[in-house]
Amino acid sequence: MSPRVGVLALQGDVEAHARALARVGARAVPVRREKDLDDLAALVLPGGESTTISKGLERERLYEPIRAFAEAGHPVLGTCAGAILLSHAVENHPVPTLALLDVRAVRNAYGTQVDSFAATADAGCAPAFRDLRCVFIRAPRLEAPGPGVEVLVRVDGAPVLVRQRRLLAATFHPELTDDDRVHRALLELAAAPGR
Ligand code: GLN
Repeated sequence: MSPRVGVLALQGDVEAHARALARVGARAVPVRREKDLDDLAALVLPGGESTTISKGLERERLYEPIRAFAEAGHPVLGTCAGAILLSHAVENHPVPTLALLDVRAVRNAYGTQVDSFAATADAGCAPAFRDLRCVFIRAPRLEAPGPGVEVLVRVDGAPVLVRQRRLLAATFHPELTDDDRVHRALLELAAAPGR
């Protein structure tokens, strides 16, 4: 049976994640309230506007349930705004976060002049992600990754895809290309034993 993977559906590019999940054989389930987390194999926090999403999390009282979901060992992938929401700390218009990932996110770190761009993973990244094409849209930068954080992909030397146990965070938008390696990695974490 295909795994059920939640996509936080308060704001942002929910549909593109649902399509990417379908391509890798998962069933995407929109998550708008706590009970939607029941029986999910994993969760995606999409890109969008982290201020708006954080207000939705507050309104729907979802911070604690999502934190508990991750702390129970369920994999979570945060992309762009979703990566910001996973981080321990945020600079440049801080937002309340889930504080699960030992990094500091700097919002809109590439400046307003460079709204969006695509780039290829630096040589020497994790072999599974070799030559990954990364699409950045008003992207954050992840700084000061802690000792438990593995940098899987860098672009121009900066971490853009990181993993801490069962958390994955991408500052780019893997759902906007037809390269599904990041979504597949989330499903692999969900299938792996040893929560
Ligand atoms: N700039 C947005 C923020 O800081 C993130 C952009 C995105 O998710 N594409 O929330």
